[in-house]
Amino acid sequence: MRLDCLGSGNAFSFGRYWSGFLLDRHILLDCPPQTLPHLFQLGVPSEEIDLMLLSHAHSDHIGGVDLFLLDAVYRTWPRRTRPLAVGGPPGIYDRLREVIGESERLPPRDDTRITWFEGGDGASFEWAGATVECFEVEHDPALTSLGFRVHAGGSVVAYSGDTRPCAAVERLAEGADLLVLECGVGTYHFDWPDVLALRSRLPASTEIVVTHYPDEGADAVRGVPGVRLAEDFGMYEA
Ligand SMILES: [Zn+2]
Ligand SMILES: [Zn+2]
Repeated sequence: MRLDCLGSGNAFSFGRYWSGFLLDRHILLDCPPQTLPHLFQLGVPSEEIDLMLLSHAHSDHIGGVDLFLLDAVYRTWPRRTRPLAVGGPPGIYDRLREVIGESERLPPRDDTRITWFEGGDGASFEWAGATVECFEVEHDPALTSLGFRVHAGGSVVAYSGDTRPCAAVERLAEGADLLVLECGVGTYHFDWPDVLALRSRLPASTEIVVTHYPDEGADAVRGVPGVRLAEDFGMYEA
């Protein structure tokens, strides 16, 4: 699988874009505000996106959904040859409705143009040649946050979303070829020593790509085998 980084920062890392990734040029791992222009820069038409996986309802992860749908509904629906699906934690549709309001650019939940997969820990579904498993991770207690494990083309990419160290991340990482791991630093996030501790527990066959990180402290993982710091527009393979 090919992974393109749409952004490697968190809500407070000015200078890098908000964290998000593009998997095999058709699956979005979160939809930060800059998603649409960065897809254009990568030469990926937005109508090529088959699946959008939203880890949780914080703005740095869903801030681009409104603009993506605006583009979809008013420009690209006629060109779409495949339907769009959105996966996320329970309540993600209602949260997007709150953000977007009553505009038609968020179609009704039963509109056939978008299929919604809302599920908690243990949920899984198949879409566009990929199998997605959902893991409930520990982040903001006010909402449900998911990590995703995506199986496609014989490889496994795990995506932590935002989380502090917890058992679910260990389950999520199990057998993954590549783990995209957040390091937001703070109460509800991984910190640099947590990244190193997890690295020491995972097999060498699982590569870690750190995202959603501040610049401060990043030297702690530079040069560590099996750990890479995501860079905006960086490309990774699993
Ligand atoms: Zn975040
Ligand atoms: Zn968050």
